[in-house]
Amino acid sequence: MTDCLFCKIIAGQIPASIVYQDDRVVAFNDINPQAPTHVLVVPRRHLASLNDLTAEDDGLVGEIVRRGAALAKAAGHADRGYRAVFNCNADAGQTVFHIHLHVLGGRTMTWPPG
Ligand code: 5GP
Ligand code: ZN
Repeated sequence: MTDCLFCKIIAGQIPASIVYQDDRVVAFNDINPQAPTHVLVVPRRHLASLNDLTAEDDGLVGEIVRRGAALAKAAGHADRGYRAVFNCNADAGQTVFHIHLHVLGGRTMTWPPG
């Protein structure tokens, strides 16, 4: 999708601090980090929100989650823990409509979230 911020990051048209990429998934540091580690894991293929997932995307979602867990572990957060979150639409505060997994670690999180 030409007007999507994360598609532009994936295409290299907007700079980002990329921490991982393969042929299906890209991960980069959030521009406004909410924790010492705050990485966004996205599919290369444009999907606006969780509402757009189909059964064909099950493998892709698994790769996104598994990659987020691997990045959290690589950052040293596996034992103490970390949070992995998808926001979907307005009530959850989604602002960029290209599916992304937030991986936050390096501080204690509160629950329930705000
Ligand atoms: P959402 O609110 O949609 O769940 O999360 C969007 C995230 O994208 C926010 O945490 C925000 O800081 C991040 N973000 C917005 N614009 C940019 C950008 O240009 N570059 C990067 N790296 N992150 C961005
Ligand atoms: Zn996109």
